Amino acid sequence: MDERERSAAEIAALRERIRYHLHRYHVLDDPELADSEYDALFDRLVALEERYPEFVVADSPTQRVGAEPLPAFDSVAHELPMLSLDKCLSEDEFAEWEARCRSRVDYEGDFEFTCEPKIDGVAVSLMYEDGVLVRGATRGDGQTGEDITANVRTVSAVPLRLLGTGYPARLEVRGEIYMPTAGFRAFNEAAAAAGERTLVNPRNAAAGSLRQLDPKLTAGRPLSLFCYSAGLREGWQPATHWSVLEAFREWGLRINPRAARTTGLAQCFDYFRGLLADRDELGYEIDGVVVKVDDFALQDALGSVTRKPRWAIAFKYPSEEATTILRGVDFQVGRTGAITPVAKLEPVFVGGVTISNATLHNMDEVARLDLRVGDTVLVHRAGDVIPQVMKVIESRRPADVNEMPRIAMPEHCPACGAAIERPEGEVVARCPAGLTCPAQRRERLRHFASRLAMDIEGMGEKLVDQLVTRELVKDPSDFYRLTREQVESLERMGAKSADNLVSAVEASRDTTLARFIYALGIREVGETTAESLASHFGQLDKLRDATLEELAEVADVGPVVAARVREFFADEHNGGVVDDLVERGVHWPAPERRVSTPLAGETWVITGTLAAMTRNEAKARLVALGAKVAGSVSARTTCVVAGPGAGGKLEQAQQLKVPVVDEKQLLGKLKRYEANDGGGHEES
Ligand SMILES: [Zn+2]
Repeated sequence: MDERERSAAEIAALRERIRYHLHRYHVLDDPELADSEYDALFDRLVALEERYPEFVVADSPTQRVGAEPLPAFDSVAHELPMLSLDKCLSEDEFAEWEARCRSRVDYEGDFEFTCEPKIDGVAVSLMYEDGVLVRGATRGDGQTGEDITANVRTVSAVPLRLLGTGYPARLEVRGEIYMPTAGFRAFNEAAAAAGERTLVNPRNAAAGSLRQLDPKLTAGRPLSLFCYSAGLREGWQPATHWSVLEAFREWGLRINPRAARTTGLAQCFDYFRGLLADRDELGYEIDGVVVKVDDFALQDALGSVTRKPRWAIAFKYPSEEATTILRGVDFQVGRTGAITPVAKLEPVFVGGVTISNATLHNMDEVARLDLRVGDTVLVHRAGDVIPQVMKVIESRRPADVNEMPRIAMPEHCPACGAAIERPEGEVVARCPAGLTCPAQRRERLRHFASRLAMDIEGMGEKLVDQLVTRELVKDPSDFYRLTREQVESLERMGAKSADNLVSAVEASRDTTLARFIYALGIREVGETTAESLASHFGQLDKLRDATLEELAEVADVGPVVAARVREFFADEHNGGVVDDLVERGVHWPAPERRVSTPLAGETWVITGTLAAMTRNEAKARLVALGAKVAGSVSARTTCVVAGPGAGGKLEQAQQLKVPVVDEKQLLGKLKRYEANDGGGHEES
């Protein structure tokens, strides 16, 4: 077989695979490949067909991107085809594209571009006649899509009627319908709690939602829309793409707030880097930037080739999904004894780094995924978030699934051998051994020394492990007993680093009360709660002696957290460690105290919803002025703040003739008192 014949065979095989994955992706909404992996298959086919054009046939996936419309939806022929975009993967490739554009039209100087985030959603076409939405359609294969009018009408971001004036009699708006990440997470949490099927990622979630034959189901999904171009625009002759976006905005069509105009390469690169840095904070998933030559006259001059415009390109970001093999599952013991299953993966490049571990959260999640050792899994890694296993690719399992080992929670703690407990109704299994479990001890010590806690520079995980193994440190206070000789005796520890570590331990004695509280590693007490506790009580002793009721007065502290704090300080061992730490010289500045506490002696109750602030914020501000904030109304209540939705507590207040104010009145009062306080603080 010569190379040409081999290529012919490969082309045939590739087409088969691509058709299969297209069907999974577009028709079943159940992909088996990460997009980047699919793209690689597709790119390979394009390359081979370019080399051997004689093998190109009309039904090759490269000639008909997309999938057959579902038979249950009517087909819609697009009056102007919906083009797809060429892409580039690096700034160098982008520079080459820019140079090609300029040379093609003999352009001196820098092009003006528009840059828009490339949303990971579903492309749609919205037809407006005399400003009224008459039809919504999917992109389909670019020529023919599906009529999803009833479904797009349920998306709040899609205007049913355009605002303002001046729009063409027939206007086709193109955009991307997507599911915001917060909505996606909330939907999945609710679905998981109800024992229903969860969605794989926001893009599939959007596609699946729009494909519901019952529009009521679509309406229940948190979908949104960004508009990015005009298809058919009868009689309207805008000069630039940017002016289209501006007109859209005026007509009530949603434009991405990050859309920007740039000039020349350098500004485009700045845009790419800036958006990438903010990728995790956008609130929706993106996979790159769409760059368009802004001037329509230049766009016309550049033209299109094989249904891709030459004047636009997608600058792609590193993929956040990949498939890999599950090699096994480890069970890790956290500092509070929680046992977490961790997936051991065949190393894979995703989200810009190589990963070999992913969290599985808990055994409910393992059961939901129906995970077995040897499975091919889809993993997702976005930003600093711990990589997650999203789903199992079931079709890659051997015929006999039962031969694959199941994953079971061990009966005994892998670190100390204690019998693992999982209380009725709780998701998390725990080792009950507390500080006698070396794993919990080690995790607590790591936490104590960590950056946001006592911040002992250089006291990394490996060092803590050594100190624990050699029994040089058992409790956090032992860090402050370490001698220079002991430190120098550790493995891979030179004189210089021993000096540094000793000084770092010394320096960490000078801390803040909030850091100290956080460092103690009380269950449910994160950084923010530690800060609230520190600023509320001001002094460690007051916190140690606080009753459940007093703890519950702190902003962000509910009954569960209050109970954990109480439990912690009631424990004799913990008390001893805290005393020891203070004796060893751990200290923090004395609290700042307000000069005036105008609401001292008053008890307030907040009920219903507030608009300008959360109830916790309102609580914190009242407490800062000296008031107590209670959870129930009694005859001794000074005042009740009632927002919309207030129920029983409001009725009680009226019965007991307790004064009631609304949010506006509360804000007025807070502002007055806070201003009178004059910001005067004094050291106590
Ligand atoms: Zn244990």
